[in-house]
Amino acid sequence: MTRDTHEEARELIALGEGLSDAQQSWLRAHLDECEACRHYAEAANGVVRALRSLPLAADSRLVRATQMRVRFHASRLRETRERLWLVGMACLGVGLSATLTVPILWRLFAWMGEWAGVSTVVWQSGFMFFFIAPALVVSVLLLARGTHMTNNG
Ligand SMILES: [Zn+2]
Repeated sequence: MTRDTHEEARELIALGEGLSDAQQSWLRAHLDECEACRHYAEAANGVVRALRSLPLAADSRLVRATQMRVRFHASRLRETRERLWLVGMACLGVGLSATLTVPILWRLFAWMGEWAGVSTVVWQSGFMFFFIAPALVVSVLLLARGTHMTNNG
């Protein structure tokens, strides 16, 4: 057998379907006696089978679904960032207002405590409640507003 015979056989294998009866019987005869070309044919058939069994990679529905998933993920990221920003602003706002009002409130409560004749612990507890309650309300409101906004956006 010459080298050309093997090359011809492999060309026929590459063509796959669409061979004439004569070509097919010649190829079968060659494969029966040539192990190298038989392996080549098996490998080629394996590749063809693998390609056929693949879900169509360029299927437009698959591409669309992937794009949608990517876009959804991006918008989720943006929402998370916006929510974090709102939480940050809420904390900043509460902190600023606390810094401004705490010294005034502290003096006011101390004065009221003295005036009412209650112990230091009592007016300090009252101050803590008075100070913490609005901060809690404000942050809850801001968080709820942030959630509402991002859900609609
Ligand atoms: Zn051969």
